[in-house]
Amino acid sequence: MQKLPLHWKIITGMVLGVLFGLLMSAFSGGKGFVIDWIAPFGTIFIRLLKLIAIPLIFVSLIKGISDLKDISSFKNIGIRTVILYISTTVVAIVIGLMLVNTLQPGTGMAEETIEELTRTYASDESIASNIHEAVEQESSPLNFLVDMVPDNIFAALGNNSLMLQVIFFSILFGICMLLIDPVKARPIALIIDGLNAVVLKMVDLIMWMAPFAVFALLAQIIVSSDNVEILEKLLYYGLTVVLGLILMLFFYLIILSLYAKKSPRWFLRGIVPAQLLAFSTSSSAATLPVTMERVTHHLGVDNEVSSFVLPVGATINMDGTSLYQAVAAVFIAQALHIPLEFSDQLTIVLTALLASIGSAAVPGAGMIMLVIVLESIGIPADKLAVGLALIFAIDRPLDMCRTVINITGDATVSVVVAKSLGKLHPTDQPKT
Ligand code: ASP
Repeated sequence: MQKLPLHWKIITGMVLGVLFGLLMSAFSGGKGFVIDWIAPFGTIFIRLLKLIAIPLIFVSLIKGISDLKDISSFKNIGIRTVILYISTTVVAIVIGLMLVNTLQPGTGMAEETIEELTRTYASDESIASNIHEAVEQESSPLNFLVDMVPDNIFAALGNNSLMLQVIFFSILFGICMLLIDPVKARPIALIIDGLNAVVLKMVDLIMWMAPFAVFALLAQIIVSSDNVEILEKLLYYGLTVVLGLILMLFFYLIILSLYAKKSPRWFLRGIVPAQLLAFSTSSSAATLPVTMERVTHHLGVDNEVSSFVLPVGATINMDGTSLYQAVAAVFIAQALHIPLEFSDQLTIVLTALLASIGSAAVPGAGMIMLVIVLESIGIPADKLAVGLALIFAIDRPLDMCRTVINITGDATVSVVVAKSLGKLHPTDQPKT
């Protein structure tokens, strides 16, 4: 077991978790047992990962930026990152739109299925709260910019949903370290360096728990999942999303081999443990510490690049989520017989881009921001709950899959930016 590469340990944990969940679902009281006695270990793991996400962003961003030679190096990384993030997200949305318009998963949906799903889920509390949260976020078009700027760094540090504010502060701090007298910056850099090493060690320790934690997480997902019959009715829609996500993965692999001259095997071997955790936790934010470790130490991306590209990506670059939002919006319109013009499809490109930037990196966030996409194409307010009800049952498994693509997109962009700046180092890719 000691010798087994990390991803095999995690896969073994996942498979056993699924089997255990299925077994326990067959017993009366089995579900309760998993929820009471197994699930807490998964929750502890996610809490530990989230616990170190903010300190990690804070120290590694400051270290990354203050290690740069000057501000123009930072500008180079920043501009490339933003352009690549926007481009890959647009590609994802276009792939989603092409698939959903070709395969038309919503068109033939039986009226009874629509009624059944509406009856079961439309009045579900979480759907109402999704709509409510999305409406709150819409108050002004530039709200997302305002929200990025903290007015109290301690409040931002104390709230995981304010990660972008921590990123903003850390970037500002790092830039100012570059601007002040190097003699004064030196002691701060030494402390940050030490803190960085401590936080990375914490990631290592927490990862010991990963195979057991994914066992608990998957067992919990299996015993809490909806009945299989309903999932079967949404299979065609689900497969459309998954097919799009797979195409997106191929897109990344092609970019990496054409531009970075790196083989799919090299990339996947480096990133797969982070992908498995993204799948198990459905949260890019919780996965961030592991993504950073894998990209820096196993893919050879210089810390100067990964420390900026990855935290920013975890919060604003969600290719999987935007692809899913495009497919879901058109699927809902098809099922509810709401015709969409070409201009509506263009609106989807724009709103899904903004919605994925605005989506938090936590489970289910993509569905909240989907409301904004639905509103932008004129789905009437009284149909929003019905629309979400149609896709609700299958949202969790799709969330797991789209989160994998979200973090894979961030890792791909890190490699490409690093390559373009000559900051992609050779690695021997150790086995774990
Ligand atoms: N769970 C996704 C993430 O954390 C966001 C979403 O699509 O709901 O990346």
